[in-house]
This record gives sequence, structure tokens and C-alpha cells, in this order.
Amino acid sequence: MHFDVFTLFPGIFEGPLQESILKRAQEMGRLSVAIHNIRDYATDKHHTTDDYPYGGGGGMVMKPDPIFAAVEDVLGMALTTTPVILTSPQGRLFNQAIAWEMAQQARLAIICGRYESVDERVRQFLVTDQVSIGDYVLTGGELPALVLIDAVTRLLPDVLGDAGATLDDSHTNSLLEYPHYTRPAEFRGHPVPDVLLSGHHAEIARWRRRQALQRTWERRPDLLDRAELSPQERQYLEELAGADEGNLPRD
Ligand code: SAH
Repeated sequence: MHFDVFTLFPGIFEGPLQESILKRAQEMGRLSVAIHNIRDYATDKHHTTDDYPYGGGGGMVMKPDPIFAAVEDVLGMALTTTPVILTSPQGRLFNQAIAWEMAQQARLAIICGRYESVDERVRQFLVTDQVSIGDYVLTGGELPALVLIDAVTRLLPDVLGDAGATLDDSHTNSLLEYPHYTRPAEFRGHPVPDVLLSGHHAEIARWRRRQALQRTWERRPDLLDRAELSPQERQYLEELAGADEGNLPRD
């Protein structure tokens, strides 16, 4: 999977891409990231990349010409087949389903906005998709680009080592993941649940599934509408709802 990132601040990418799993994915040849400085494509003497907004008002707007030149030069013929994503608080909300969708691509381009954002013609005539990482406003699209790269990379084959590791992840099946424990078996008087020490795989799987259901029901009940649940699991949720009204849930 190859990412072309277009930014005015390439330095922001230095740390995150050189540590841990993103670093290893690049060493394995699963991931490559090319950071392109939009400023290199500004043709005037001062390499201007932003300008005052037409119509007045505060802030600066990223000029269209260096962005078009950068993306067209880097992608070349691939421009017609490569999704060009603009990071934007006005885009569709990024989630795990979109990360899976992106992980199917061989190549993605990401444009990082700054200041008030990019000239609207970039959005209209260059970009094929706009993605927001949440309903808040950041100073630039670099952190959102890294969020996309990170979320997509851990879905690429072999990157996490354990092929099953992503299947239980929160948001993969519209459920939050079950709780995790590691040694010691007792920490400051707080024991690990017995079932996890039992070695009984079916019981452990059942316990984890119920924990996932319970915490999704408690923390993100909105997700349950989309979850694929068995009749028994639906019944368990009804029991939880009953417990909420005074009864204790069956464990
Ligand atoms: N004035 C703009 C916000 C500009 S924020 C507006 O109100 O829509 C500057 C840049 O940061 C944006 O162009 C975008 O690239 C990036 N950005 C800020 N918040 C973001 C978010 N939640 N998701 C994705 N990108 C974001």
C-alpha cells in the first residue's frame, strides 16, 4: 500500500512513521509513504502557498495552483485511478469501515489542509473524497492523515503478525472489544477473572463475547443497531436492560 501525502509541513510526519508498527510495516514492504512538500510546487519567487480570501474575512486560504501541480506531477497517469482524499472537518466521518475500504486500495493520495482550508476548486476538481476524523477543528490535516495511515496500516496483511488480531477489534463487528488482562494474576488485590485462567477456550470465548456485548450496551448502545447478534445474544441484552431496572444480570 502506498500513500502520497501532500503537506506544507513534512516535518510533522518524521516521528510517527519511524516508530513501532508503522516503521515495521515499511521495513516489511507492506507500507510506503511519500511526503511531498506543496511549497516545492509554488512557482513564484517566494514560494507562496496561501493568500487572502476573496470577499474578505480572517485567515488565509491555500492557493489551488501549487496543490494541483503537486498532485498532478506526483500521480501522473495514476491520477485517474488513485483516490485523492482531502482531510477536512466537513468530510465524511472516518470509521473502521472506511479504514477497511481504504485498505483494499493499492495507492491513496492525501491532501493536508492548513489555515482556513484549501481553495474550493481543489475540493471541486481535484479531490475525490473528503474525510473528517471527528467533529472538532484542528490546525491542519497532518494529524488526520497520520490517523488514516495508522488505522489502514494495521489492517494490511501480516502487519500485526497475528492474522486474527484485528477481527475482534472494537468497531469491526459493531461491538467494542472485550477487556484484556495480562500477568500478574492478582494486582494490588484485584484478580484476573477466573475464566481467563481456566484454559477452557469455549468458556473464554463465551465470556469475551458477553463482555463485548455488555460494554457496548453500557458505553455505545448506538452501535448495537448494526451488530449481527444471535437470538441468545439479543436475549442477553434484554436481560441487561432488565438488570438496569433493578435485577442483576446473569453472568
Ligand atoms: N475553516 C475550516 C477548518 C480549517 S482547519 C472549516 O471550518 O471547515 C485547517 C485544516 O485542518 C483543514 O483544511 C483540514 O485539512 C484539517 N482539519 C481540521 N480539522 C479536521 C478534522 N476534524 N478532520 C480532518 N481534517 C481536519
